[in-house]
Amino acid sequence: MVNHCANPECCKPLHYLREGRVYVFDVTRTVTGTGERTTRRMEHFWLCGACSESYLLEQVEDRTVRITPRTKRVVSATMMPYKAAHPIAS
Ligand SMILES: [Zn+2]
Repeated sequence: MVNHCANPECCKPLHYLREGRVYVFDVTRTVTGTGERTTRRMEHFWLCGACSESYLLEQVEDRTVRITPRTKRVVSATMMPYKAAHPIAS
């Protein structure tokens, strides 16, 4: 179980689950080599309130989980202010 913020630069202790945001990722790994085996695992990650406003967690192709600043990508339509895709030429 998670006990601190997933942001390595924050690491705020987790006291209240209602604060921030919990992510669950499938971190199943297939280990190749002598005797290939798959370790199936769901892992929980938590971002504290402050970090979840600025960052989000995402899983990349090799199933590792990374923290990403929210400003660099459009996450969802909720509460995202409109931004012009291209700067207006003057
Ligand atoms: Zn945090």
